[in-house]
Amino acid sequence: MSHQESVKATFSDGSMATYPKGTPILKIMGTKGDVSPSIIAVKVNGNLLDLSSPLLEDAKLDFISFDSTEGQNILRHSTSHVMAQAVQELYPGIKISIGPSIENGFYYDFDYERAFTPEDLDKIETRMREIITQDLPIKREELSKQEAIKFYKEKGETYKVELLEEISDEKVTIYSQGNFTDLCRGPHLPSTGKIKAFKLTSVAGAYWRGDENNKMLQRIYGTAFADQEKLDQYLQQVEEAKKRDHRKLGKELEIFSINEEVGAGLIIYHPKGALMRRVLEDFEVREHLKRGYQLVKGPQILKMNLWEKSGHLENYREYMYFTEVEGQKYGLKPMNCLAHMIIYKSKIRSYRDLPLRYFELGTVHRHERAGVLHGLPRVREFTQDDAHIFSTPEQLAQEIKAIIDFVADVMKIFDFDFDMELSTRPKKSIGTNEDWERAISSLKKVLDENNFSYQLNEGAGAFYGPKIDVTLKDVLDRKWQCATIQCDFSLPERFDLSYIGKDGEKHRPVMLHRVILGSLERFMGVLIEHYAGAFPAWLAPVQVIILTISDTHIPFGEHVFDQLISHSIRVEKDFRNESLRLKIREAQLQKIPYMLVIGDKEVQIGGVSPRHRSGSDLGLTQLNEFISLIKQESQFPNYK
Ligand SMILES: [Zn+2]
Ligand SMILES: [Zn+2]
Repeated sequence: MSHQESVKATFSDGSMATYPKGTPILKIMGTKGDVSPSIIAVKVNGNLLDLSSPLLEDAKLDFISFDSTEGQNILRHSTSHVMAQAVQELYPGIKISIGPSIENGFYYDFDYERAFTPEDLDKIETRMREIITQDLPIKREELSKQEAIKFYKEKGETYKVELLEEISDEKVTIYSQGNFTDLCRGPHLPSTGKIKAFKLTSVAGAYWRGDENNKMLQRIYGTAFADQEKLDQYLQQVEEAKKRDHRKLGKELEIFSINEEVGAGLIIYHPKGALMRRVLEDFEVREHLKRGYQLVKGPQILKMNLWEKSGHLENYREYMYFTEVEGQKYGLKPMNCLAHMIIYKSKIRSYRDLPLRYFELGTVHRHERAGVLHGLPRVREFTQDDAHIFSTPEQLAQEIKAIIDFVADVMKIFDFDFDMELSTRPKKSIGTNEDWERAISSLKKVLDENNFSYQLNEGAGAFYGPKIDVTLKDVLDRKWQCATIQCDFSLPERFDLSYIGKDGEKHRPVMLHRVILGSLERFMGVLIEHYAGAFPAWLAPVQVIILTISDTHIPFGEHVFDQLISHSIRVEKDFRNESLRLKIREAQLQKIPYMLVIGDKEVQIGGVSPRHRSGSDLGLTQLNEFISLIKQESQFPNYK
């Protein structure tokens, strides 16, 4: 006689019930009376599983709906399977590779003989709708790795075979719906009919596994939401982001370009971009001098042995560029730390000299893979607002607090909210356990004692020490990496840095690496999108444009131009023989804060009629009045 074992389920509301062992969770849901159609998966003792999974042990059950991040990921990932099924049915001979959910959507990579067009996407969407209407059950199956390899070899799915061969588990799972089967850990929606609102958004080339030595695949991006309203809302936000895309605006506003002939990931600043960058740099220098930093500058290339001594050759080599001249090898600096330490070591330091804060707008080179390069945020040459602080261990807390306050001040100027994250020891790292623990506890202490809220990110520190990362949120609520504060107990050891303490003995200083805006390139990209190119007057590369109505107004226009430029106001002129309407329209597209239209009236009284880009007219004004107004607005913002 078989004896039926029973298992106990505990629900999120605290209630409990027993079921025969092996009861599918879908059935259990029915008995609970909670059969909300928005429930799509379940957490069994914290493990995310399909609703079809059997309950095999006493467990706590949490039902997952579309509203949660996990639910959204499952919905989007399942939609990627439906897309792959549609693509496979429409384009025989295509090979599938991987199709994860990503932030706000999903993608799937395909190996196909030609690039997909927007018409293809329409066709695929139509086919996907049919698959969704069929409401095909999505079934999970476990099989041995060898069986799975055989299965995919027969189908000619070489990418799946490659993935399988790297899996160390003996058992793998596949998910099927209709004739489509995918190697996958799951979980998935119970059936394709659960998908209510989706959209394929774009197609792009993507190297297999992000490696440029591999074949270029076709990546189709899409997104899915619980309902049409949420999808529409999201698509609208994407449209807004597209309008603000810094690559598009960067070109239209003549800020920067990237040129394949020059090299991928290398930014070329055009006059307006170079000027705006200089304004940012001046701002940075002022803010640093105000806070007791000293300006320093190291060379671009440093001898190879120094990089060996610092541990970079061992830990960072893959990101570095090298050069050799007359038998001497050099490394281009990927970081600015080394020269700063050489300056520290140039004389004997006493505790009375500390803290020392060396600041450099340091240009660095890092070899990022071609696949990850993207506009201004991911480049191969960039400039950091980098500083190294050498302090006694006792001064560490106050220095970290001062840096966080610095970050908060600067973020306020640009109207950014920000989040902080504390990252601890990664696998590949240098330094002793004691060093790491001491550094992590100092960072934690400062954050806790000052009531700064932060997230803990285990194992994500730099190879030489733990760090605090700051991510800012722009006007569209997108997150960007900016400031970092890194504690380093290792480099002072390697370079034998010391100071003479109160006791007359030698001591080891603590070293902090920190940036505030981070990469100026990335930060400018963020600013372009944040302001949609309409920069505040203090930052705008062109603050004023002078427009003449006819040629008779040119001499007075020239006079106004000379006056403004002599006051260091960033001004342009448009004296072309074109209609005023056209000139105004072009100036508006350039998002220049002020337009000065010069006509008979202005010439007569020797004044100007400023018009703000927002559309407001300031009326006829004396030229010197306007000059003081714009000078006022051009001041670096103050927050204290
Ligand atoms: Zn999957
Ligand atoms: Zn550094």
